[in-house]
Amino acid sequence: MAVPKVEAAKCDGCGNCIDVCPADCFEMQDNKSVVVRPDDCVECMACVENCPTEAIELV
Ligand code: SF4
Ligand code: SF4
Repeated sequence: MAVPKVEAAKCDGCGNCIDVCPADCFEMQDNKSVVVRPDDCVECMACVENCPTEAIELV
């Protein structure tokens, strides 16, 4: 079972991952996306595909 990880240094706070995640895994904290519900991930890859800075991976 993979879970999403955000590399904070790469995140520019665009919010795309929050908008596209069907499982509500992310929240914005201090203009960075934080994975708050990793175990809810359904591995759809939408966050990875829509992150402009390649800050997200499933691991
Ligand atoms: S892979 Fe899909 S379900 Fe998992 S965190 Fe990314 S957008 Fe959400
Ligand atoms: S899509 Fe990428 S850059 Fe945008 S908020 Fe999410 S992790 Fe940060």
